[in-house]
Amino acid sequence: MISEHILVELNKQITKEFYSAYMYLSMSCYFFEEGLPGFQKWFKAQAIEECQHAMKFINYIILQGGKIKLESVETPPNEWECNLCVMETALEHEKYITRCIEELYKLAENYHDKATENFLSEFIDEQVEEEAIIRDIIRRLNMIGTNSSGWVLVDKELSERN
Ligand code: MG
Repeated sequence: MISEHILVELNKQITKEFYSAYMYLSMSCYFFEEGLPGFQKWFKAQAIEECQHAMKFINYIILQGGKIKLESVETPPNEWECNLCVMETALEHEKYITRCIEELYKLAENYHDKATENFLSEFIDEQVEEEAIIRDIIRRLNMIGTNSSGWVLVDKELSERN
């Protein structure tokens, strides 16, 4: 049986994943306005992926016979100082989510809950990848600076994401 404490924290993570989706959707809309369709598409795909993460948490709780408690999702920002700032916000957010997943994992360890540890290990790997991908985009954007043809090139590459 899964502990009540873990259930509460897993439920909180559902809201955090939906907030991630909501924020990435907001970033996608921001890039539409900025005339960068590749970034727009990339963040839209990112938003869909975050919804899928939330669904995985929901399915896991249901499988464990727990109760789902959906909470309200905070309003995400919809303006950023610069295009690069959006990517930096995304990276900071992913680092925050990584810390949340690690805290959840520690909690599962404390309760000797192997099933939850296994479930979370996929997300631990996922976070390493998420952070690396965004860090890589930021590194390239830093090299490009304000060179607009460089931005168009990265935008084209990001548009190739399925
Ligand atoms: Mg996620």
